[in-house]
This record gives sequence, structure tokens and C-alpha cells, in this order.
Amino acid sequence: MAQDADCLFCKIAAGTIPSTKVYEDDTVYAFKDINPVSEVHVLVIPKDHYPNAAAVAKADPTLIAHIIEVAQKIADEQSDGAFHLLFNTGEAAGQTVFHCHAHVLGGKADAAKVA
Ligand code: C5P
Repeated sequence: MAQDADCLFCKIAAGTIPSTKVYEDDTVYAFKDINPVSEVHVLVIPKDHYPNAAAVAKADPTLIAHIIEVAQKIADEQSDGAFHLLFNTGEAAGQTVFHCHAHVLGGKADAAKVA
């Protein structure tokens, strides 16, 4: 799996669309959500294009595990280590960007607003 030239989050991961970077390594990129619903609201995305979390889990279980590890690292660094982890999957569930992204919600969070 590689990049999709028309995908917003592929462009963010590549740096061609600006974002506030929180973390990056060879396989994932994390940035602050532009419309935060909690004190800590970070999106963790794979650099390769997958439409949703289930597609990542099917193709590359190590990568989905790594996304969750990075979520914990961000919650440890930016809050008290506690966090909500949310993968909206499918339009009816509120997914608006069809590139896998983990919402990491820490501090005062209202996960119900992420829809
Ligand atoms: O789960 P869902 O697809 O609704 O989440 C997309 C998220 O991407 C939203 O929370 C939105 O604020 C965020 N976003 C962003 N930067 C952009 C476009 C969308 O942080 N340039």
C-alpha cells in the first residue's frame, strides 16, 4: 500500500499540506486535530494510505499495534497517560476523511462529539 495523490491525510503525512506535528517515525505521523474536542486531541495516521483502521489491521497488524503504541506515548507526554482512542469507520459512523486515523483524546474529552 502506498500513497493516494488525492488524499488529504496522505498530503499531511508528506508535508505538502501543513499540520502541527506531534510525532513522526518511518511508518506513522501524528498531528493536532484542527478542531479539537478535548484538551489533547491528536490524530495518529499511517504514512501509507489505508481507508480505515480495519483495513490496516487486515493488511498489517503490526502497524495498527504501532498506532496504538504511539497513541499511548502521546497521552503520556501530553496528559496523564489516560486517553480515549477512536477510529470512526464508515460515513454513517462519522468518518469524513477516508485515510485511517486514530483520534487520541486526553484530558477533558468529549468523545461523543467526535462524529
Ligand atoms: O473521524 P473523522 O473522519 O470525522 O475525523 C476527521 C478529523 O480530521 C476531524 O476531527 C477534523 O477536525 C480533522 N482534520 C484535521 N485537519 C484537516 C482536516 C481534518 O485535523 N486538515
